[in-house]
Amino acid sequence: MTPDEGPQDTVSRVPSKTTASLRSPIEVEVAERLAWLIRLRWLAVVGTLIAIAVADQVVPGTLPLGALVATTGFIAAYNLGLHFIARRLAGIPDDARRARYARRLIHFQVVLDLLCLTVLLHFAGGIDTPFWAFYVLHIIIASILLSPLSAYAYVGVAAVFYGTMVLLEFFGIIPHTHLNGMACPGHYAQWTVLLSTGSAFLATLFFSAWMATSISMRLRARDLELVRLNVELEHRADELGELNRRLQEIDEARKRFVRVAAHELRAPVAAIQSYARLILSGYVPAERQEEIITRVEQRALELLDRINDLLILSRIQEHVEKREQVNAAEVLEKVVELMRPAAEEKRLRLHVEVEPDLPPIFADREQIQHIWMNLISNAIKYTPAGGYIEVTLSHRPTSIIGSVRDSGIGIAPEDQEKIFQEFYRTEEAKQMAPHGTGLGLSIVKQIVEGLGGRIWVSSAPGKGSKFTFVLPRSDVPAPAEPAERDATDESRPPWPGG
Ligand code: ADP
Repeated sequence: MTPDEGPQDTVSRVPSKTTASLRSPIEVEVAERLAWLIRLRWLAVVGTLIAIAVADQVVPGTLPLGALVATTGFIAAYNLGLHFIARRLAGIPDDARRARYARRLIHFQVVLDLLCLTVLLHFAGGIDTPFWAFYVLHIIIASILLSPLSAYAYVGVAAVFYGTMVLLEFFGIIPHTHLNGMACPGHYAQWTVLLSTGSAFLATLFFSAWMATSISMRLRARDLELVRLNVELEHRADELGELNRRLQEIDEARKRFVRVAAHELRAPVAAIQSYARLILSGYVPAERQEEIITRVEQRALELLDRINDLLILSRIQEHVEKREQVNAAEVLEKVVELMRPAAEEKRLRLHVEVEPDLPPIFADREQIQHIWMNLISNAIKYTPAGGYIEVTLSHRPTSIIGSVRDSGIGIAPEDQEKIFQEFYRTEEAKQMAPHGTGLGLSIVKQIVEGLGGRIWVSSAPGKGSKFTFVLPRSDVPAPAEPAERDATDESRPPWPGG
């Protein structure tokens, strides 16, 4: 790990796929801060030149002006080079790559700056000059722009540079610049001075690094938290948008349903009202009155049927149900008993086949009864006299499968989805059985899906239909998918030979 990998580590601990985008703004801004550092150095160059000029006026002939100006010139020269490199770096489109290069360049600059500062300090009086405080600036910059580890590493680098310089002067290996009037001659060669200045130097630098890194770490953590919250907010906004869209869809469906329901209820009421008006206005001769009243009764019964179906539908939607362990075979047996007379009246052969040892399902008994009643009564209603109806009930590893097959009028492919919508009736069905609510299959579908199952139809016009539904068994754990689908059933023709 390089010293500057610290802040990235914090980023990588943030969970989820958003990690890549979760970069603290400080991280992303490293490249921009590089330009700021270069601008800061121009200021430092100008400041140093002014300080040299002032010192020359105040203590003329004390400082080696040539060496100081040459060092400052060197700083200006590498700053110019850095300026061009930074401009090229700004052109890198990838944020992460740009930040990585910028961070390396910042390391390079800090080392170079520390070195030049040490050289300047050497020419400006070595241990006697108070300007060693400028090391602190570099430590703060490293703490802000790099990792905490880097900041402490640079405390060490500064200590090595500064320590080497004062020790070389101490042992007379390099000459010491004496600051007239500011320090006693020989001051730099005393152990006590060396130790006190050295410890003040180290303590100041360490304390600065500690303060600056703890502040910048806290800022980074807060920055990161803000970025995380922002990403979370965006997610929430997306979710809310999706929920809103679904609510709008539901609202649209509800409005459509109310419109269609009102229309469907209005038709029989309007018919009853016009028959009543005919009788009341005396247009119906006495011998036809019974016929008209019979029609009124028929329309009233039709209306009652629709209202009953609507009530069932709303009970299902409000989940008013009493679930218990239900044996679908028992329910089927009772329904068949009830329906058989109607089938026999139409001379339809009604064949029932139930697999033995059928497992239970967890459902509302009345609803299961409703499924069978609806599918079998439809088969009777839409199968011409002399036809055939076959009802089967079997089980699979996680579900039970029921089917009602008939040799009736069949359903055109384009109608097969629509018949599960409220009030939809095919033209052929209307001709064959004028009275129907068009609500039965919609109720069946909602019951089946409410129980975690599925229902579908396979049919061909004139060849009959087969309705199949699957419901999850209650004696085994639910499968990952909703109740499994008997795919082979769909591909088979509904009625061999029609
Ligand atoms: P209804 O039978 O009262 O019209 P359903 O909701 O039960 O209402 O059925 C909707 C429509 O589906 C029917 O009008 C008919 O067009 C079609 N349908 C249902 N069952 C069959 C079937 N066994 N054979 C042919 N068509 C059917």
